[in-house]
Amino acid sequence: MQGGIEQNNITTCQIYPDIYNDHMARSKSDIANSAIRIFLQDVGKFYDEKRGFKPFIPNKSQKEELLNYFNYQCCFCGDNLTAKTLSQDHLVPMNKTLLGLHSWGNVVPCCKDCNNEKQQKSWEDFIKTKASGGILKNREKNITNFVHSKKYDPNLNLHDYADNL
Ligand SMILES: [Zn+2]
Repeated sequence: MQGGIEQNNITTCQIYPDIYNDHMARSKSDIANSAIRIFLQDVGKFYDEKRGFKPFIPNKSQKEELLNYFNYQCCFCGDNLTAKTLSQDHLVPMNKTLLGLHSWGNVVPCCKDCNNEKQQKSWEDFIKTKASGGILKNREKNITNFVHSKKYDPNLNLHDYADNL
């Protein structure tokens, strides 16, 4: 009986090697991504405090501040937003290559559709698919001004930063 079970397990892996490997790979990278996101949230909190801000959660008033800055519109496509329909996009994506932080100046309000579409793309490329001409220039300027107003450095080097903690 025992031999039979073992054999079944081996057979399953042998028949479906791609599914098996794929599944394993996905779980492993999922764990890595979660760990990176937790790390980037924690560093973001310190970075907020260092710049004199209350850590970005966002809570109700922080959501209002974001929406207010962007006139209650998706910063990419211009759709109207409320605190309920608000999605948050990280301008510099929170992944292990780009290391964007969850903090003031890197999170902008957008609609759910834009958030789903943008994923890991750069916002500079993505916004060009949502607007053109003067409207595009205005929206780009709004985002850039927002980042500057919060003193977020998109080229922040986490190694330099960690040395100064
Ligand atoms: Zn949008």
